[in-house]
This record gives sequence, structure tokens and C-alpha cells, in this order.
Amino acid sequence: MRAVRMTAPGVLEQVEIPTPTAGPGEVLLRVGAVGACHSDLHILDAPAGTFPTPMTLGHEIAGTVDQVGAGVAGWSPGDRAAVYGIIGCGHCRACLRGLENQCRTVPVGGIGLSRDGGLAEHVVVPASRLLHVGDMDLTQAAPLTDAGLTPYHAIEQARPELRPGTYCVVIGIGGLGHMAVQILIATTAVRIIAVDTNVAALDLATRLGAHKVVKAGPDTVDKIRAIVGPPPDGADVVLDFVGADPTITTARQVVAPGGQVMLVGLAGGTLPVRPVADQPPTIPLEATARVPFWGTRAELQEVIALGRLGMLQADVQTFPLERTPEAYELLRRGEIHGRAVIVP
Ligand code: NAD
Ligand code: ZN
Ligand code: ZN
Repeated sequence: MRAVRMTAPGVLEQVEIPTPTAGPGEVLLRVGAVGACHSDLHILDAPAGTFPTPMTLGHEIAGTVDQVGAGVAGWSPGDRAAVYGIIGCGHCRACLRGLENQCRTVPVGGIGLSRDGGLAEHVVVPASRLLHVGDMDLTQAAPLTDAGLTPYHAIEQARPELRPGTYCVVIGIGGLGHMAVQILIATTAVRIIAVDTNVAALDLATRLGAHKVVKAGPDTVDKIRAIVGPPPDGADVVLDFVGADPTITTARQVVAPGGQVMLVGLAGGTLPVRPVADQPPTIPLEATARVPFWGTRAELQEVIALGRLGMLQADVQTFPLERTPEAYELLRRGEIHGRAVIVP
């Protein structure tokens, strides 16, 4: 079968490899669609040894069951499914509570992160990772598994602060951010301020229902404060889907006392926390910062429900497998709007 693999750090190649078979407890999926996540670029850019090579990339997968391994119940060839990408140990304190994204045994990993992912004609996954998607278009189902699930989980964690009429700043209206705007609209009554450097991303945010948009630049903080009010007032929640120093600085400068900063983006910025009274504070008193990771299986089921209800729809740009490198190049240059989805 054809597969797009990271063959060495930074090297992406389309290769021909044997089609895998489903072992006990596993399912062979014919891949219908795979989202191109910005994290794949971080994986490609990571130093040697951080991720296994060769490894087929792609952790945002939907497909059709082709083959079921021994002992698999509840799945048959022809079933359509989305893949929950995390594989926790299943036994630690976190996994037992359904928080496989906090597994205390298995380091950050999963399908397309620590084992072969979905950028191929087929992928083998544990049957326990599959969720039914019904007759949903697979190019819509795939982005739900990360671009949908990750913001949904962050929003769940921030939910106590997301009171009706409060302000939520969403920084980075890309694959994750444009889903976040829709999830906020579907599940809260907050006022959404969308922030991006890219005007097309802001247009998408407006089309999706964001209440205000701010073009990021040297005056981002002033522009947001003009909407939410000057300190000590501020935004109740800031979702940062970039995670670079400038966006983290914006987040901590516009969040209200007692507010929540969700650092989802992995661009390598730092959040200083200095809880002393005789120097300018780095983050308001009582504010919380979290580093959410992906989400839980139960949350993915809810995200799929939102998708099937038509309340969460990725803005999708599709590419055939052969054009995967081009899709990632466009993503790196900030020229993908919404989500790039590969159809193998
Ligand atoms: P993306 O490239 O689709 O979107 C990023 C958006 O941010 C783009 O619209 C871009 O124009 C905008 N942007 C870039 N720099 C900016 C700046 N300085 N100010 C304002 N906007 C800016 O990326 P994505 O796939 O949505 O992923 C976003 C980030 O989230 C990545 O770092 C990715 O690795 C990370 N991520 C984290 C998790 C997690 O579990 N924590 C899961 C998935 C992705
Ligand atoms: Zn991802
Ligand atoms: Zn575990």
C-alpha cells in the first residue's frame, strides 16, 4: 500500500509498504480521510530520537473497517469510524478515570505519534479506539478527532469561567481555532474575540459567528483591552492555539483576575508566573493556566454528536495522498484555511 512516512527527522516520503493485518483486538481500517495537523510539523521538526522513524504520520483519522482481528466484538467490515488517537495504558489512575490523555504510564503518544498513523491506504488500530460516525462524510469526521476534540476538551476544562455574556479570546483561527469558535457557539453563550495574524482566518471566524475579530500585531493587547476593558478587567478565558511568546504574552496580559489561560498551541513559548506583590505581576492574581492535551474518548463521542447535528463543521481543503507534502508546506506557510484533509 502507499504510505506517507517520516523516514528520518524532517524527511517526509511517499513509500510502498506491505499492507498491515489486524492482530488480536485490532481492526484494519481503510483510511477515508486524515487531517494534516500543525503538530505533524512539530513532529517533523523535532530532534532525532524524539519520535520513531520510519513512522507513517497522521493522527486525525476516519475510515471504514476492512478486517477485524481475533476477539473483536462490535465492529464488522464496512462499519464507518473515527479514530481516538491516544493509547493510554488503561490501568493507571488517570486511565481508570477515562483520562487517557493524562496517562501516567505511557508517555505522550498514540496513533501517528508513536506508531504508524493514517497517512496511508490502511492503518491498524486497537478496536477500542474506534467510534461510530454513521453516514457522516469521512472528510468531516476526521478533523473532529483532534481539531475538534482538542478545543472541546480545553473548553470543557474552562467551562466554569465560560459564563453567559463573558469574554473568550481565541488566538489562532486555524485548524483547531476555527473549530473552537463553533464549539463555543454551540455550547456556551460567551462573546468570542478571534485573534489571528491572517486576515482570511479572521474572515472565517466572522463567518462562523465570532463577535469581534482582532488582527494580531504590536497593538493586539490594546485592541483586546478596548473590547474587554482595561486591567484589572479582562477576558474570562483565553484559548491560545499558537503558543508562541507573543501570543502567550497577549494571553496573560488580557486575562482577567481569576480567569483561565489555556495553552493549547505548541509553538515553544514560555509563560512566566511570578506570584509576588512588589513587582508587576506576570499574570493576574487568581488566574489559572493549563496545558490541555487532546481529549478523552467520552469527549470525542460528544464532538462527533455535534458534528452529526451539523453544529460543528470543519472548513476542509482536500488533497490526494500524493500531494501531502504540498499540504504540509501550505500549512507551514499559513496558507491553509480551516483544515487540510488528505484523502488517500
Ligand atoms: P494551524 O496552522 O492550522 O493554525 C494556526 C493559526 O494560528 C493560523 O491561522 C495562523 O495564522 C495563526 N497564527 C500563527 N501565529 C500567530 C500569532 N503570532 N498570532 C495570532 N495568530 C497566529 O494549526 P493547528 O493545526 O490549528 O494547531 C495549532 C497549534 O496547536 C499547533 O501548535 C499544534 O501543534 C497544537 N496542537 C496542540 C494539541 C494539544 O493537544 N495541546 C493538539 C493539536 C494541536
Ligand atoms: Zn494534532
Ligand atoms: Zn494509563
